[in-house]
Amino acid sequence: MNTHRLRLVALPVMAAAAALSPPAAAEESSWSWPLEPRPSIVRAYEAPTGPYAAGHRGVDLAAAPGAIVRAVDGGVVAFAGRVAGVEVVSVDHDGVRSTYQPVGADVVKGDRVARGAVLGRVLLAGGHCFPVACLHLGRRHGRAYADPLALLGRAAAVRLVTPYGPPPVPPPTPALGRGTPGGLVHPVDGPISSPFGMRVHPVTGELRLHDGTDFAVPCGTPVRSAAAGRVVGSGYDPAYGNRVVVEHGGGLSTTYNHLIRPGTAAGTSVEAGTVVGSVGSTGFSTGCHLHFMVVDEGHPVDPTSML
Ligand SMILES: [Zn+2]
Ligand SMILES: [Zn+2]
Repeated sequence: MNTHRLRLVALPVMAAAAALSPPAAAEESSWSWPLEPRPSIVRAYEAPTGPYAAGHRGVDLAAAPGAIVRAVDGGVVAFAGRVAGVEVVSVDHDGVRSTYQPVGADVVKGDRVARGAVLGRVLLAGGHCFPVACLHLGRRHGRAYADPLALLGRAAAVRLVTPYGPPPVPPPTPALGRGTPGGLVHPVDGPISSPFGMRVHPVTGELRLHDGTDFAVPCGTPVRSAAAGRVVGSGYDPAYGNRVVVEHGGGLSTTYNHLIRPGTAAGTSVEAGTVVGSVGSTGFSTGCHLHFMVVDEGHPVDPTSML
C-alpha cells in the first residue's frame, strides 16, 4: 500500500526536477552582450597551458572609450577597483564570474545587478588594445577560465577585426627630403622584411597594427634620418628598444627603432641622410632590423607611401 503511494508521488516529482534543470545547450548561451550594439571581437580567448602560462583569459571586444558596460547576467558585484593598476569590475553569477576591464565602475562590491544593468564605462588606460580602447571580458568558474563566447553566441560566428579600423589613408606627401623630390630618403639600404599593416605580432602573437616598415639589415648598419628636422626624442622604450624620434615640421615625424645603442641626442638638428644611430635588436624584436615609422599628426602611416 505504502510502496504504491510512494511510486505515484515520486514520479511527478522527478519529472518536475528534470524540467527545472535546463538542457546543457540552453545553459551554453546564457549571457547577454556587455556592449550595445553587439561588438566585434578583436582578440579571441586562448586557453592558457598552465596557471601562469601565457594565453588570453577572455575576449577583447571593440569599444569606444566611455562606452557603457552592462552585466552579462544577473548577479552580485564581487569586485570593483584596481588590480595591478587596471580598473576591473567582476560580477558573481552563482559561482560563475564575469570580469570586465578596463572599466570605470558605477557599482561597488556587494551591489546586486540585473542582467543588462550598467556596470560602468570603458576606459582607455590599461586596456588590452592600447593605444585604442576595447573591453576585455573574462569568464571564470572557480579558478578555471573559460571562453566567454561560448555563453554569448556561437564561436563559428566570430571573426577577428582590427580595433584600429581600416588602414589609414596616407596623407598628401609633403615636400621633404633631398633623395626623392617630395619624399623621404631611405633610412637604410635593405629589403623590406615586414610591411606596414595588420599582422600577427612575432613576439606577442597578437593581431595588431604593424605601425612601421621593417628593413632587414645587419646589426650595426648606420641609420639615416629620412628628412631634415630635429631630434625630439632619444631613449629606451620597452617595445621599441633604443629609438630616435625626428620631427620634420608640418605634424610629420619619423622614428628609428630597435637601435643597437642610444642614438643621436634630443635637441640635435639633422639633415636628410644624417646618421642618427645603428641598427640593433633592442626592445620587442626577434632579430637585427630597422623598424622605421612615419607618424602624421600622431597617427602612424605607411612609410613606403612616402619613400
Ligand atoms: Zn584581453
Ligand atoms: Zn617593425
